[in-house]
Amino acid sequence: MTAEIISGTEIRKEILAEIKEDVAKMKAEGKRVPGLVTILVGESPASISYVTLKIKTANELGFKEIQENQPEDISEADLLALIDKYNNDPEIDGILVQLPLPDQIDDKKVLNAINPDKDVDAFHPVNVGRLMIGGDEAIFHPCTPAGIQEMIVRSNTETSGAEVVVVGRSNIVGKPIAMMMAQKGIGANSTVTIVHTRTKDLAAHCKRADILIVAAGVPGLVKPEWIKPGSTVIDVGVNRIGMNEKTGKAILSGDVDYDAAKEIAGKITPVPGGVGPMTIAMLMKNTLKSAQYALKNS
Ligand code: NAD
Repeated sequence: MTAEIISGTEIRKEILAEIKEDVAKMKAEGKRVPGLVTILVGESPASISYVTLKIKTANELGFKEIQENQPEDISEADLLALIDKYNNDPEIDGILVQLPLPDQIDDKKVLNAINPDKDVDAFHPVNVGRLMIGGDEAIFHPCTPAGIQEMIVRSNTETSGAEVVVVGRSNIVGKPIAMMMAQKGIGANSTVTIVHTRTKDLAAHCKRADILIVAAGVPGLVKPEWIKPGSTVIDVGVNRIGMNEKTGKAILSGDVDYDAAKEIAGKITPVPGGVGPMTIAMLMKNTLKSAQYALKNS
C-alpha cells in the first residue's frame, strides 16, 4: 500500500491561517500586533532571499515588521548595540539575525546577546536549557524541530510509547527533536534513540522505528529495507543532486529513497514540500507566542 503523504506545504497553509486569525483577534481586542525585526548584514544573495521570504510572510500575517539592513563592514560593537536597542523595544517580540555574519563578527557573541524571550530561532543557550527542562519552561522550540513535531501531530501519528529513531545529532535538528519527542506532552512521550556516524548498526535501529526522523544530509542514506512497514518517515534532508537544465533550478532529494520507501511506510514526508516549508511558519508561530507571552506578563 502506498503511504499517506504528509504535506508540509498544506500544513504550513493551515498554520499561517491560524496565526493570521490570532493576529486579527489581537487587533480587534485593541492589543498590539506581534513585532519582528530582521537583521541582515551585507548583501549575500542567499541571505537576502531568506530574509525577503521571512519579511514577506510576516507582512502577510499582519505583524509589525522592521528591516535592519546593515553594511558588510559593520563593527561587532555596532551590531551588539543594534540588538540591545531591539531587546529593549517593547513592540518587538522576535529578533532574527541572518547568518552567516562577516569574519570581523563573532556569531556566538551576537546570538547570545539576543534577549532569550525574543530569540524566536530558539538557539540561545537559555532556550536550549528551557527545551531540556520542557513543559511551560519552553516558550519556543527551534523552528525545524517544531515543524517536524507539528507534522507528526497534525498527521495523527501516535507518539506515546512509540519507538522514535532520529538519524543525526546536530544542534539545530537531531538533538532538539530527540529531546522534544522524549518529553511529557502532546506529540511526545516517545522512546527515543539518536543514531549518528559512529553508530554500529544504523539499519537495525532504523528497522524498529515507528517514527523515523532522518536529518543527516546524505542523499539515499536510508534504504527501503530499513523502514518498518506502516511506520511514519520524516525526511529532513535537503540535498542538491543536480540541476534541471530547463528551469535552471536545483534538483533536490532527501536522505531517504522516497519512491521505494513510500511503498513500505504508512506515512511519509516528501522532499521538496515536506519539512522545508514548515520552518518559516514555525518562526512566525514563535513570534506570535512571544507576543502573547509578553502581553500576558506586561
Ligand atoms: P549536520 O551536518 O549538522 O548534521 C548531520 C548529522 O547527521 C550529524 O550529526 C552526523 O553524525 C549525522 N550523519 C551524517 N552522515 C551520517 C551517516 N552516514 N550515518 C549516520 N549519521 C550520519 O546537518 P543538519 O544541519 O542537522 O541538517 C541535516 C539535513 O537536514 C541537511 O540535509 C539539511 O540541509 C537539512 N535541513 C533541512 C531543514 C529544513 O528543511 N527546514 C532545516 C535544517 C536542516
